[in-house]
Amino acid sequence: MRTIEHHVGGAAVGPAARHGAVHNPATGEQSAQVAFASTADVDAVVSAGSEAQRAWAATGLVKRASVMFRMRELLVAHADELAAIITSEHGKVLSDALGEVSRGIENVEFAAGLVQHLKGEHSTEVAGGVDVHTLKQPVGVVAAITPFNFPAMVPLWMSASALATGNAVVLKPSEKDPSASMLLARLWEEAGVPPGVLNVVHGDKEAVDALLEHPGIGAVSFVGSTPIARSIYTRAAAAGKRVQALGGAKNHMIVMPDADLDAAADAAVSAAYGSAGERCMAISVLVVVGDATADALVAKVAERARALVIGDGTDESSQMGPLITAEHRERVASYVTGASSEGGEVVVDGTATSFDGGGYFLGASLVDRVAPTMKVYTDEIFGPVLSVVRAETYEEAVRLVNANAYANGTAIFTRDGGTARRFTHDIQVGMVGINVPLPVPIGAYSFGGWKDSLFGDSHIYGPESIHFYTRSKVVTTRWPDPEDSQIDLGFPSNH
Ligand code: NAD
Repeated sequence: MRTIEHHVGGAAVGPAARHGAVHNPATGEQSAQVAFASTADVDAVVSAGSEAQRAWAATGLVKRASVMFRMRELLVAHADELAAIITSEHGKVLSDALGEVSRGIENVEFAAGLVQHLKGEHSTEVAGGVDVHTLKQPVGVVAAITPFNFPAMVPLWMSASALATGNAVVLKPSEKDPSASMLLARLWEEAGVPPGVLNVVHGDKEAVDALLEHPGIGAVSFVGSTPIARSIYTRAAAAGKRVQALGGAKNHMIVMPDADLDAAADAAVSAAYGSAGERCMAISVLVVVGDATADALVAKVAERARALVIGDGTDESSQMGPLITAEHRERVASYVTGASSEGGEVVVDGTATSFDGGGYFLGASLVDRVAPTMKVYTDEIFGPVLSVVRAETYEEAVRLVNANAYANGTAIFTRDGGTARRFTHDIQVGMVGINVPLPVPIGAYSFGGWKDSLFGDSHIYGPESIHFYTRSKVVTTRWPDPEDSQIDLGFPSNH
């Protein structure tokens, strides 16, 4: 049995006292065991990070930028390998895994502009001979705690900007699919990140608790479910750390009567069932304005949902893979079963589809006439279940979305520019799509929800990450004229 060890100071460390099992969700077979860190293991990894971080922070910006450029090229060269690892442990289809890798590459591309991002401000002659400027310095050692559903992209959301700004990173990936992080660590080091600057520690609550309490950790980036995000935020903030904790979601897509219903149905099916609904930006509720629109749209979505090809993610014909675990599949299925007892109309019942073998497959489900009090509406299901809530007006649809505790992403489908513009102002959600069902911002903009979808002040990656991973300082200076000048005819070099 393959053992996935912690990666500390550029090498595998072990053996661990405790392990967890890693499965291939398409077959149900165990593919590896992963080490679970103790508090002492976390202490060792934070020490390694602290020691290595000082030299990394002192490495010139141009050199650090060149590491980012090399990492970008390595990711492109290893994209297929990384996607295969993702599919083997997460289950998503290979094309989707490749999409995840390419979105992660965007974060490295953004980080490669670090020389620009780290520019400070300067005011000259604020008083007689006095100048003022600002510095952005790294926080130190950053904990990056990531979920199972994007095993490469979310680690890249965090590590690219954290490393570019001169921090060391202790990455604690999901114990369900930890292997992508191991390849990322190897690639970062091949790109030129010195050993000890990017460490991977595996584990469960014990490892996370130790990171939250460790005095050597300056900032915590967390992405996962809302209950854990809320608790991480509270505990890390109480320990005096800078913290951003991104949580779960219930993303609504409003469809107006004037929308192109075929395009809306295509978008809804792609965004609801892509990655088996295990995306924090997945559309899980369609809010359809007008009964006639709803009748037509439900028929179109149902037809498409029934036709989806579900199978092993390595099979090119598969459009949707399995869920992450057998327990999760049972939980997701229970919402579909429960919906009909609460008065919902199960138009497509994915629980009725049977699959051969031991994989954690579940068919796509569509539930119409959902009321906001039903569990299928109130809970984040994180599976291939799409609810339809019928609204009479635009105002009623917006009120519904704004009343939800989650506020990660949302979309409106309409041909009316005025309605679309009004929506962007009315809606209380962090990421908004106009005829775009998955409005995941490109790497040059930051990602983040509102309300129970994000705890903390900073969104993740993009410009807000530069602020999150640095501390600023204001320097006020008065200098006599320099007397130590010398002649040097060489072309100035930064390397
Ligand atoms: P999760 O909350 O179960 O786990 C996330 C991380 O926290 C993992 O590394 C896990 O090991 C750790 N963890 C789990 N239980 C813990 C505990 N009791 N104490 C301390 N640490 C603990 O989430 P998941 O199931 O891996 O991922 C799916 C969730 O993540 C969904 O809710 C999804 O919406 C959310 N998500 C959000 C975003 C976003 O950007 N907002 C992105 C991706 C996923």
